[in-house]
Amino acid sequence: MLITWSFGPVGARAAMPALLSGGGALDAAVDAATAIEADPEIDSVGLGGLPDAEGQVSLDACVMTDPDRCGAVMFLRDFAEPTRLARAVMEETIHVTLAGAGAEAFAESRGFRRTNLLTDHARSVWERWLGDPRAIDRDKYRGWLPPINVEELRGIETGTRLRTGEPPHDTVSILAQDASGALAGACSTSGMAFKVPGRVGDSPIVGQGLYVDQEAGAAAATGTGEIISGVCGSFLIVELMRRGEAPIDAVAEALDRIRRRFRLLPDHQVAFIAMNPAGQWASGALRPGFRHTIADEAGTRVEAPTLVLLDE
Ligand code: ASP
Repeated sequence: MLITWSFGPVGARAAMPALLSGGGALDAAVDAATAIEADPEIDSVGLGGLPDAEGQVSLDACVMTDPDRCGAVMFLRDFAEPTRLARAVMEETIHVTLAGAGAEAFAESRGFRRTNLLTDHARSVWERWLGDPRAIDRDKYRGWLPPINVEELRGIETGTRLRTGEPPHDTVSILAQDASGALAGACSTSGMAFKVPGRVGDSPIVGQGLYVDQEAGAAAATGTGEIISGVCGSFLIVELMRRGEAPIDAVAEALDRIRRRFRLLPDHQVAFIAMNPAGQWASGALRPGFRHTIADEAGTRVEAPTLVLLDE
């Protein structure tokens, strides 16, 4: 399994024993995502995720194994297991995506339990942001917080605001390959902290946050959703692998496309993970700070990405 960020071991612990004893790739991806969603300490996914500007947590997730086998939920409030719900959309409806109140009603109909997603910690971070957006440790959340206002946006653009440090938390994207060689992926997030209510990023959108095709490979994303969406990042990487590129070259090309086609701000961060049907894999990030987690027969390791495009 290849998982975004250094919280990956939480997911690997939950999913690897079954995967190593012959379990399926989709089960592994969903189980790993569900464990990370349930961890209240991880404030960018599931329970404990930071809320939108109005203090409400909304979750986005998708799962995929092939072009004709994918499911997603977006703008889901009050339910803590968006990835399991996305799988239910895939397996129990004729649709691919359910959003908002409809997704919540579907969750209820399938026996998912209503949960208050806003932890005391997330509420206190939100209240601090409401009182004084500058009080938030923006270094910690680099690449993940929207600009506070137009002046701040200008400060970012002119480079007058110093940004350093490593964002510790972000979207969990998971690629898994099982003993039969089958690939599967899952992607789950609470999205950008303090977002405009209703905002949905790349993560639950097939082809943007995640894409899987058994014939070509799998790719998934984390980082500023607005940028990943614009290049259909995960689909792009899988299509490049379909044309024969190695995972690392496909990731590099997608990151370079982003570098060339966007007016990048110092806050923007994007990372991709990719795996081909032969089990070769790679990860790459636009800027320093990203880590991936790799788990296999040899154990679970948190590592620097294979490639970082820019120096800072
Ligand atoms: N990609 C996610 C989003 O834009 C969040 C992130 O990974 O930072 O919603």
